[in-house]
Amino acid sequence: MRSMLTATLALSLCSVAALRADSLPNLTVLLSVEGKTSPAALSELKNELNDIMKETGRKLDLRLRNQAAPSETFEDVVIVKLKGMCKMERLIPFMDERGPLAWTHSTNGEILPFAEVACDRVANAVASALWGEERKQADKFLGRAIGRVLAHELYHILGKTHEHNEDGSLAKESISAKQLISDKRITFDVRDLNRMAP
Ligand SMILES: [Zn+2]
Repeated sequence: MRSMLTATLALSLCSVAALRADSLPNLTVLLSVEGKTSPAALSELKNELNDIMKETGRKLDLRLRNQAAPSETFEDVVIVKLKGMCKMERLIPFMDERGPLAWTHSTNGEILPFAEVACDRVANAVASALWGEERKQADKFLGRAIGRVLAHELYHILGKTHEHNEDGSLAKESISAKQLISDKRITFDVRDLNRMAP
């Protein structure tokens, strides 16, 4: 009898492990766009965010908000408002375009699953960092930059933290325009990933 019990236990442990590997929890991100939006920017934003979030132990489902059915239910959902124009209309930056690139909302210190991105400010930062041939793919760089900015906000939301990590990860408080568009990847470190773990 004892050996049978051991075998059953071993089997059930295996099936739990298999289940975990196959079914990562879903994180749905619903984007609502306010102004003119470049399809190239949206597509690159999706690639970049997918790439960054791969390491956080969640499966990312990123869609426009109007692509979600009203009755749809979600395991975990974050609503993101893209404010202003998410499109590179001008390639010369304004000098007075200051302020945060994105923010989250909180009630009584608790962070809500709701973020806003100031596309115009991100576009301005991108315009200041583009160089030469890069300008031909300005919208693609904008998408990459918005993806990085959004990943930072998801760090606050998933990690339920207002804190930053100044060790050079994507969870640091401020980022340079060059880093927003750089071909060099910028990621979360182990400490950030632990905070964001499902
Ligand atoms: Zn922050």
